[in-house]
Amino acid sequence: MLSDRYQVSILEKADKAGGLIKCDRVMGSLFHRVGGHVFNSKNETVLDWFWSHFNREEEFIKATRNAKILFDDQLLGYPLENYLYQLPEEKLRPIIDELLTMVSQVPKAPEEYPNFKAFLIGNFGEQLYNLYFGPYNAKIWNTDISKVPLEWLDGKLPMPQIREVIISNILKKEEASMVHSSFYYPKNNGSQFIIDRLAEQQDIQLSYQVSSIGVGEKGIGINGDELNTQLLVYCGDVRQLAGIVAIEDELLRTCLDAVTNLPSNGTSNVLCETDDTNLSWMYLPEEKYKAHRIIYTGNFSGTNNEPNRRKTCVVEFSGKQDQDDMRSELALLPGNLKPIAFNYEPNSYIIQQKDTRSKIDTLKKHLAKYNIYLLGRFAEWEYYNMDKCIESAMELNKTIR
Ligand SMILES: Cc1cc2nc3c(=O)[nH]c(=O)nc-3n(C[C@H](O)[C@H](O)[C@H](O)COP(=O)(O)OP(=O)(O)OC[C@H]3O[C@@H](n4cnc5c(N)ncnc54)[C@H](O)[C@@H]3O)c2cc1C
Repeated sequence: MLSDRYQVSILEKADKAGGLIKCDRVMGSLFHRVGGHVFNSKNETVLDWFWSHFNREEEFIKATRNAKILFDDQLLGYPLENYLYQLPEEKLRPIIDELLTMVSQVPKAPEEYPNFKAFLIGNFGEQLYNLYFGPYNAKIWNTDISKVPLEWLDGKLPMPQIREVIISNILKKEEASMVHSSFYYPKNNGSQFIIDRLAEQQDIQLSYQVSSIGVGEKGIGINGDELNTQLLVYCGDVRQLAGIVAIEDELLRTCLDAVTNLPSNGTSNVLCETDDTNLSWMYLPEEKYKAHRIIYTGNFSGTNNEPNRRKTCVVEFSGKQDQDDMRSELALLPGNLKPIAFNYEPNSYIIQQKDTRSKIDTLKKHLAKYNIYLLGRFAEWEYYNMDKCIESAMELNKTIR
C-alpha cells in the first residue's frame, strides 16, 4: 500500500514469506501450518482492495460453512445456541428453563460485563456456559477466561438476544451473520496462493531478522545499517521490540518495557488423512479430547489432497503438545485420522488484558515520533483475522499519508 509513494523493502526473518498463513506441500497434500485460513470480510473497502489483486471467479472457490460440534458422540449444529433442539431432552430442559428466566431481563451492553466469562454467562446462561462455552473457551485460550476483558471480542462474536435464540430454535433458522459463515478459498495452494500473489513485484528480503532499530538525523537505521530509512512499519511481535529498539528516550523505553510480558498462546497442528466428510470445521468442546478443532482443509479445495490418498484435515491443539500424545489423541477422534505432518507455532493467539489496548496505544504514539509504526496481530496485539490486518493497514496508510 505504501509503494505508490515510497520505495518499500520487506524484511522477513523466515526463509519464506507469509507468517501465520504459510502453507507447505507435504507428500502432495497442502498443510496449513497454523490452522486453515479462509478469507472473508464485512468491510467493502477491504473486499475491493482484496479483489483488485485476485480474480474471484477464476481463482477462488466460494463455500458455505458447514461447521459442527462433536458432543456426546453426536454432531450438533454450529453455533450451538441456534441448534439447542438437537440436544437430548435432559440437557435441553435446564438450558431452556434458564433462558426463559433470562428472556424478560433487560440485556446488558457488552461493556457492562467485567470479563469474557461474565459476558458468556450473561448472554447464554450458566447451563449453556457449563455445557459448552466454558469448556471450549478454556481449551482454546488455555487461560482463565474470567481474567480476559471484553474489548478484544469487538465484532468477533455475534451478541444474540435470548428471544432470538429461542425463536431460531423453534424455526430452525440458519445463522448467517458470522464473518466466516460463507468464505472464499483459493483453488490452488490455500492461503500460500494469497501470499505468493501479493509478494509479486515486492522487494522481499528473506532470512533477514530485524534485531536492532536506531535513529539519526537522516532517518532510521536497521541492524546497524546507514540511518536513511524514512519510515518503518513493524509487523513482528511487539514484546520483542524492547530488545530491538535502540533509541535513547526514557518515555519510549517505559512504554516498550510495559508490553514485554503480554501473554499469548501457541498452537500445535497435525496434518492428517481423514475419511470423507462434507464438513468444513468440527469443534471439540469436551474435556475428554485434548484437540479443540478439526479443520477439513481437504474440503476447501480438491487440489489440497494428494489424488491417490484420502482427504486431508488439520487437527488443532492448544499449546505445545508431545507428538506421541497427539498420535494417541488422534485415535480418539472421528474419521480414522492418520497423521502426515506436525507443526508447533509458539505464538498464534494473543491474549488481551484490561490495560493492553492503552499500553499499545501509548507505545504507538511514542514510536510515531520516530516514524515507526505497529501493524498486525502480534504488533498491535489485536485478535485480527487477515481482513482486519488489511483494514488496519489501510488505516495506517491514511495516517502516514
Ligand atoms: C489457528 C488460526 C487460524 C486462523 N484462521 C484464520 C482464517 O481462517 N481467516 C483469517 O482471515 N484469519 C485467520 N487467522 C488469523 C491470521 O492468521 C492473522 O490475522 C494473520 O496471519 C496475521 O498476520 P500478521 O502479518 O499480523 O502477522 P504474522 O502472520 O505473524 O506475520 C508477521 C511476520 O513478521 C515476521 N517477523 C517477526 N519478527 C521479525 C523480525 N524481527 N524481523 C523480520 N521479520 C520478523 C514473521 O516471521 C512473520 O512472517 C487465524 C489465526 C490462527 C492462529
